[in-house]
Amino acid sequence: MGSRRKFLEKASVAAVGIPLLCYSSDLLASSSEPYDGRMLRVAIMGLGSYGNRVAKAMVDCEKAKLVGVISGTPSKIADWREKYDVPEKNCYNYENFDAIKDNPDIDAVYIITPNGLHCEQAIRVAEAGKHVICEKPMGINAAEGQKMVDACKAANVKLLIGYRMHFEPKTMEVIRMRMDGEFGQPKFFQGQSGFVIGDPTQWRLNKKLAGGGAMMDIGIYSINGARYMLGEEPIWVTAQETKTDPVKFKEGIDETIQFQMGFPSGAVANCLSTYAMNNLDRFFLNGSDGFAEMQPSTGYGPIKGRTHKGELTQPHITHQTLQMDGMAELIFEGKQPIVPVDGEEGVKDMKIIDAIFEAVKTGGKVEITI
Ligand code: NAD
Repeated sequence: MGSRRKFLEKASVAAVGIPLLCYSSDLLASSSEPYDGRMLRVAIMGLGSYGNRVAKAMVDCEKAKLVGVISGTPSKIADWREKYDVPEKNCYNYENFDAIKDNPDIDAVYIITPNGLHCEQAIRVAEAGKHVICEKPMGINAAEGQKMVDACKAANVKLLIGYRMHFEPKTMEVIRMRMDGEFGQPKFFQGQSGFVIGDPTQWRLNKKLAGGGAMMDIGIYSINGARYMLGEEPIWVTAQETKTDPVKFKEGIDETIQFQMGFPSGAVANCLSTYAMNNLDRFFLNGSDGFAEMQPSTGYGPIKGRTHKGELTQPHITHQTLQMDGMAELIFEGKQPIVPVDGEEGVKDMKIIDAIFEAVKTGGKVEITI
């Protein structure tokens, strides 16, 4: 985990002195007035590395607040209770969290556990009548994702996936430029996502808990990025796997996959997902009239990039702070992000991952309907 955290944290800076931006229909608007609207009261499930990052970022949220925890480790609960002033009545473990349905002080549960647990946990949260925020990948295949979407619909709760880049200012600017035709016709996307994974015993290298290897964890950024940078859904994929360490990367755990995607307009994407190379975090979009290049493109920031018009200069703001305020607006004010973060968006990425794994197996071109 250390190497992953280092990769994502590399150029991270605190957003001290920068006015908090909130994600809204006019993309990013400065919030000068103190917020006195409804607060999204969130319980975090899974108090690991990323859960800690989200909790810390939420301290600066103005529309969302950490109010509860779900964990199997009593010492972590005690620690979080003290750090974040979480009342005892809002603390649960993995056996008893269905009782959250009787807790009127919690609106949503943010699931930040290993991928293989997301589906069952999301369904239980939905059945308890709480909104579900779930980390990426939403599950370990599209069938699981669809089950989650169906369960949340049946329970009449929202299902949102932790796609923090959909709230990130420089990313939003490139998407705006693409939508305004500033790149002309988008033709080509290149996405490279990777880091060298450490401890061979961690859940990320366990098929049941991770669902796959680098593709599930980090390749998904290139998949999702290809879709929001090009503004289209792929209609075919091809993919090739390379494995240099079959002991560490067992059957079903991909070390390195190169994959290609074709889009209805004729645009193509060429991507690399790997657990065997460090400092790979780069997006490149080429259109008939311009380009965008981002490196780092999906780490915790600051994101850096330039287009044919010059440097991207939007400010860095902690991604998870923007995301959670944006999700509060989405849940309570019905605001829709330009690029969705709903369950259906998550299922699209899962369908592409399923197709990539199939293409690796067959060596052929896999047609997909997203
Ligand atoms: P982690 O190992 O640091 O934390 C996982 C947590 O789940 C731990 O607190 C662990 O105790 C708990 N857990 C519950 N049941 C478990 C079980 N059976 N086995 C192992 N752990 C169990 O992992 P993480 O890095 O926090 O990742 C958690 C999720 O968050 C993953 O889905 C990952 O893809 C996602 N994530 C997203 C981002 C992002 O930028 N959006 C970044 C990192 C991780």
